[in-house]
Amino acid sequence: MLLIKNILTYSPKSIGIQNILISFDKIIYISPCINIPDKNFPEITVIDGSDLMLIPGIIDLHVHIAGGGGEGGFNTRTPDLMLSNFTMAGVTTCVGLLGTDGTTRSMGNLIAKARSLQIEGISTYTWTGCYQMPTRTITDSARGDIILVDKIIGVGEIAVSDHRSSHPSDNDLIFLASEARIGGMISGKCGILHIHIGDAKKGLLPIFDLHKNSEIPFENILPTHINRNKELFKQSIDYAEMGGFIDITTGIKAENANSIEVNPAEAYSILLKNKISPYNITMSSDAGGSMPIFNQDGKLEKLTIGSIMSNIEALRDCVNGGIDLENSLIPFTSSPAKRLKLTGKGQIKEGFDADLLILDKKLNIKYVIAKGKIMVENYKQTVLGTFE
Ligand code: ZN
Repeated sequence: MLLIKNILTYSPKSIGIQNILISFDKIIYISPCINIPDKNFPEITVIDGSDLMLIPGIIDLHVHIAGGGGEGGFNTRTPDLMLSNFTMAGVTTCVGLLGTDGTTRSMGNLIAKARSLQIEGISTYTWTGCYQMPTRTITDSARGDIILVDKIIGVGEIAVSDHRSSHPSDNDLIFLASEARIGGMISGKCGILHIHIGDAKKGLLPIFDLHKNSEIPFENILPTHINRNKELFKQSIDYAEMGGFIDITTGIKAENANSIEVNPAEAYSILLKNKISPYNITMSSDAGGSMPIFNQDGKLEKLTIGSIMSNIEALRDCVNGGIDLENSLIPFTSSPAKRLKLTGKGQIKEGFDADLLILDKKLNIKYVIAKGKIMVENYKQTVLGTFE
């Protein structure tokens, strides 16, 4: 058992100073006062939470856990992420995925990596597919993958408006969205078609068309990288105003005032000012994938790797930019949990999974608890991955 004492708690809603009792992997009791009996009671580890804050663990729905990239030749394939990449960044739940390369990367390898991270201590899921069409699957269909493979919750990331995509037609997208939706209906999962939007001029138009030309509800469609350029971001505000759901990439940052990118915190702030519900917005890192920069002729100029730390950095930027902590937390915690139908995740509540972060006043991560186990203690990792 683990008891966190006297800690300012954000569920993500502020619920004041609380004591949080954890047994194995669950939060079992939350109260302003908990007294441990002095005899005939199990041993309890106690963390003093005075002057600290407790928030739900971050849920990152877009991580290239088993590497990605490769757009600049074989030597540019990015490596697997390790357990401490996640825990040190406060990510206790992630959804892994393939990217551009569905040839040397496989769904089998992705599922194996997700399972290994789960054994090491965090919660993992995956999307099925990759950029290309027909997309990569384990069974004979995306629908079959969602229904039959426990880890798989939806389809993604399918690329549109990108020179690296298979340039899917409207009907291709409608077919895949139906596969995702029906797979989700039968298995009780979210059944989302998660769509990578590239830098091409048409931007979000294929998503507007998907909505206009089919019966697929908004809840089954989730475009991402919507802050990669200002034009696309403008379209995304319109799409969200219609009721659509959008995912901001925290790994995308504007380097200077002339950059085409929109900083994640700024994007979130503009969306809130446009009266978009925070529950129509999620944020994810795109970590582990390559962040290639192509010139106007489509030639690769520069390649970096997305960092999972970009989530907590974006959270801090939201707070420093004037958004209160409650609202800043939603797109990293309760919103993705709701969108992905991850019951027991994303909130601090009795009966929920004990996935928790303890932050100091500067919003640095002091402790990470994943499924009731202390993974980071006093800013240092206490649990390492198998090969770390
Ligand atoms: Zn992508």
